[in-house]
Amino acid sequence: MNSKPGKRDASAMPRGTDLLHDPLLNKGTAFTLAERDALGLRGLLPPHIHTQEEQMGRILMNLRQMADPLDRFVALNALHDRNEALFFRTICENVDEIQPLIYTPTVGLACQRFGQIFQRPRGMFISAADRGRIKSILANWPYQAGIIVVTDGERILGLGDQGANGMGIPVGKLSLYTACAGVNPRQCLPVTIDVGTNNETLLNDPYYVGLKQRRITGAAYDELIEEFVTAANEVFTGVLIQFEDFANHNAFRLLAKYRDRICTFNDDIQGTAAVVLTGLLSALRITGGKLQDQRLLFLGAGEAATGIADLVVAAMVAQGVNESVARQCCWLVDSKGLVVKIRGDLAAQKKPYAHEHAAVAEFPAAVRALKPTAIIGVAAVGGTFTKEVLADMARINAQPIVFALSNPTSKSECTAQQAYEGTGGKALFACGSPFDPVTLAGRTYVPRQGNNSYIFPGVGLGAIVSCTQRVTDEMFLAAAHTLAAQVSAADLAQGSLYPALARIREVSAAIAVSVATIAYERDLAGKPRPADIQADIKSNMYDPRYESYA
Ligand code: NAD
Repeated sequence: MNSKPGKRDASAMPRGTDLLHDPLLNKGTAFTLAERDALGLRGLLPPHIHTQEEQMGRILMNLRQMADPLDRFVALNALHDRNEALFFRTICENVDEIQPLIYTPTVGLACQRFGQIFQRPRGMFISAADRGRIKSILANWPYQAGIIVVTDGERILGLGDQGANGMGIPVGKLSLYTACAGVNPRQCLPVTIDVGTNNETLLNDPYYVGLKQRRITGAAYDELIEEFVTAANEVFTGVLIQFEDFANHNAFRLLAKYRDRICTFNDDIQGTAAVVLTGLLSALRITGGKLQDQRLLFLGAGEAATGIADLVVAAMVAQGVNESVARQCCWLVDSKGLVVKIRGDLAAQKKPYAHEHAAVAEFPAAVRALKPTAIIGVAAVGGTFTKEVLADMARINAQPIVFALSNPTSKSECTAQQAYEGTGGKALFACGSPFDPVTLAGRTYVPRQGNNSYIFPGVGLGAIVSCTQRVTDEMFLAAAHTLAAQVSAADLAQGSLYPALARIREVSAAIAVSVATIAYERDLAGKPRPADIQADIKSNMYDPRYESYA
């Protein structure tokens, strides 16, 4: 991997307009005179030479003049298409400001309007019509992919079926792999598997980019995914495949089917679990409580909820707690009420959390009945942590843990302001969408997002650099503990359960080291253990500062 700024062999470079139109190599007005002479660029650029810092200044100035986040998204997309190094450096040095524009919450809107704002393709689209020739299609990709983020668009954030418009998610996610962890953009391949859509609005939208047919299901669906997974591993040997925003009736099945066969993980299930476990560990540093003494009540019983519960249980088991005792700490509420033993036909992933208890129809009643120490909102139903729920949590606990994780912002269970006000400032709060600091009774709280982007970039980097054959739960547990160790006393003092995003590259490097270490220790790595794992990880991180070409 070419990761350090240095001198590139000019004779192997495209020249002139070809170079200016290659986003992986283009530097725009930052080409030096020597480069302009060596690479046939004289006259093709205005005379003044800007530094990359000056170019970033121009980008930020323009972005900040745009009132509409979607306009900013489009502008950043255009930058991505013409100058990747500048795009990534702008994100890296302004993560707090830019991440919400290229990922949640703006990416949700971008997916909904994907067909209208479409300018040029990025990544690969594989459709149900491509059955039987996926391998030859993947061979059209010009680089050796090290990581694929793939979606079928059926459950985009909390927005439901967005069909092929869901491509915004793999693109955005892979941008974060590069910006947050330095995964080389040449190794990143976003893929959308277009199996149709059941979204009537899209089927009737003249600008929709996908197949105008209803979703294929059953054996036809499974065979298409199987062909893709097999072909991807043949074309890009050992590639890490991250499944993203599949509906939960497919997500759990596909994870179970492939996790012991290929290098894969599902971020909605496993990445979410790790980042939320970190938030809980941070909260417990404040309350002084132990994991096994908590009672976690989840609003939602899907990929996020059961993934989190499973990893919390694994964390307790690793501390010597009996597994069935650990499971008793986790309770779920789904659209039919509290998940309890007497309910029949529960999905397999909910069953371990179906405890003995009378039926409870509503979440507020479940809060009063169970007296949880923590409520974790992952049902994608906005406003469900009501004043009443928050007041109950504050009555039950000295410091209630309140995680409102649903995305995008409109689906958030409560805002940060509501969480702090509703609990008299007692809440230990984390959110799925970004919220500004809140000042209450003279104290300022700085809520931070329990954003998966703290976890998946580092996990991906560690997996790619160690060439691990599998991504295991042990790796996610290690990632959660590593992230928790990065949360400082100063962070906790201001109510932040996560480190500052500005530190994300060092945080991701630490996570990558912990993941790679497990790969070497468990004999999963595809290369010999280096003498210095940290140095190996760091030397493989893409640096978006311009290289010299002449
Ligand atoms: P999912 O579709 O797998 O699960 C949704 C669950 O909510 C289902 O169990 C469903 O039964 C339940 N539900 C729906 N309506 C309900 C209601 N009225 N009352 C109670 N339960 C109800 O989705 P998921 O992957 O688990 O994601 C859920 C939400 O969490 C999304 O908004 C997603 O964006 C968000 N999320 C946030 C993060 C994060 O912040 N780090 C990570 C993952 C997911």
